[in-house]
Amino acid sequence: MTLPNITRFQYGREKSRIFLNDIHLIGILEHPCDDPEVRVTFCGPSGKRFALPAAEDIPGGTSSIIVASLGYEYRPHEIAVGYFAPRGYGIWCPTCHTAGTSLHRYYPDQTEAEQRVVTVHEDLCGQPAVLVTAPFPLSPDLPPSNAWPTTDHDAP
Ligand SMILES: [Zn+2]
Repeated sequence: MTLPNITRFQYGREKSRIFLNDIHLIGILEHPCDDPEVRVTFCGPSGKRFALPAAEDIPGGTSSIIVASLGYEYRPHEIAVGYFAPRGYGIWCPTCHTAGTSLHRYYPDQTEAEQRVVTVHEDLCGQPAVLVTAPFPLSPDLPPSNAWPTTDHDAP
């Protein structure tokens, strides 16, 4: 078994993002200075986010994100440039659309849109993308087995 290549980037003092193979966002840690607990969010291949139980520290939170990610296969999203009247040319990603991730960035010019959508998709959703003529969606993510119960009113 090859171990996954995991990296953690810290943003400011209170937030970290966990990446798989440098390109796939698999989780977010929130570690406020005045709170001993670490809040843990897992990001599935579709970009959908799930709350995992809070962890005692950053390594603990990172571990539960890695454990959750082992049950999924991460692949780039297939995207296309679409025309969204009246706003302009933008990203059509059926995977993000199904996961509920909004990709609101528009360009007046189709060529400019084609040059930028892959990078912009990654910024907005956390997953890499490939530009194709007829994008096919990844299947929707089921919650990981270590997630909180799925209905919102059950979450803490
Ligand atoms: Zn997408």
